[in-house]
Formats: sequence, C-alpha cells, structure tokens
Amino acid sequence: MSKGVVFIVSGPSGVGKGTILGQVFSRLDNCWFSVSATTRDPREGEAHGVHYYFLTREEFIKQIEQDEFLEYAEYVGNYYGTPRSTITEHVEAGYNVFLDIEVQGSEQVCRKMPEAVSIFIIPPSIEALAERLRGRNTDSEEKIRARIKRAEEEIALAPNYDYTVVNDDLETAVNEVLAIIEYERSLRWNED
Ligand code: 5GP
Repeated sequence: MSKGVVFIVSGPSGVGKGTILGQVFSRLDNCWFSVSATTRDPREGEAHGVHYYFLTREEFIKQIEQDEFLEYAEYVGNYYGTPRSTITEHVEAGYNVFLDIEVQGSEQVCRKMPEAVSIFIIPPSIEALAERLRGRNTDSEEKIRARIKRAEEEIALAPNYDYTVVNDDLETAVNEVLAIIEYERSLRWNED
C-alpha cells in the first residue's frame, strides 16, 4: 500500500478552512484530521477531542516541556499545537493527514517534514473575511480586529505555500483542494 501524504492547510481565521475540509472528508476516503490542542475557550458546538483538545495554559505549557508537540504557536493570545502522537503512523498506514494550522506552525512542520504539501486558503477580500468573522458571533470586536490584523500579516505569507486557493465559491474551492490532493497522491504513486 502506498504511504499517505501530509497536507498543511493554513489561512486566516474565518476563511472557511473547516468547512472546506469537512467537504473534502465527506468525499474522500483515507483522510485523517490531526486534532490540535488549544488554550482558547470552546465555541458553541465544539467538542473536546473532536475539534480541539481544550487545555488550560498550565496543561499546555507542561506538554511543551514534555516535548509533546510537533509544532506549536501563539495566535491572538492563545496557544495552539499539533500533538506528535500518531501522524507518522497514519501516513505509514496510507492516510492523507490534514493539519489545520497557522503560518508559524506551518513553517515548523515544513522544516521537520519537507515532504508535506502546504495549501493556503485566501478570502476573496479582507472585507469578506471581516464580515464572516462578525457573522460568526463568537468573538468580541477587539478579538475580531486582532484576527483581521493577523489575517493581513498571514496573507502576505501565502506565496511561501505550495498552493493557494481562493475561497470565494465554496464548491470551486473544495474542487480545487480535491484536485491538489489527487495530483500530489499521483506523484507518490509514480514513485512507488
Ligand atoms: P481558531 O481559534 O479560529 O479555531 O484557530 C485560530 C488559528 O489557529 C487558525 O488559523 C488555525 O488554523 C490555527 N491552529 C489551529 N490548530 C493549530 C495548531 O495545532 N497549531 C498551529 N500552529 N495553529 C493552529
């Protein structure tokens, strides 16, 4: 059986990475989502162990000290990190492994796993992103402003990624991500 591929998916908070990945997972077999740890509070509908492992700051720092993260970063006042645990095992078992992480985490993973494929999801405009963040109704205006400022800094780094996908129309964005996955897998099949 051929090995799986690690896909890093980055893009500003609110750009729709979760929705795109949800669609991709419903249409493709052999996908495995790496659940991150975070110190931010759960949003409505988010479950521990499904969307994130929700940790206190103390728990997170302890896990950093025990070297339990493949990468971690601070993002708008909270820690986020990828547990090392089972990524390699899933790749070996043929799964396409997906990491939904921000730009600093992506740099760390690309250094440690140069074979990883990185995809950056861009909003059609900053205005559209701001509207989406406000519509989510989960963050204070102050947090939303911080996320928009961070989004502008992140978008400037999009050229460092292997691929960029604009999430203007959801179906088009999903199809583009599916095409990237298929293409990258086919490159590996040829290597086997
Ligand atoms: P949110 O609070 O909106 O769920 O996520 C904020 C940002 O943190 C998003 O850009 C998301 O991709 C990123 N993120 C989520 N998990 C991780 C992680 O494990 N590591 C890093 N570096 N970023 C993460």
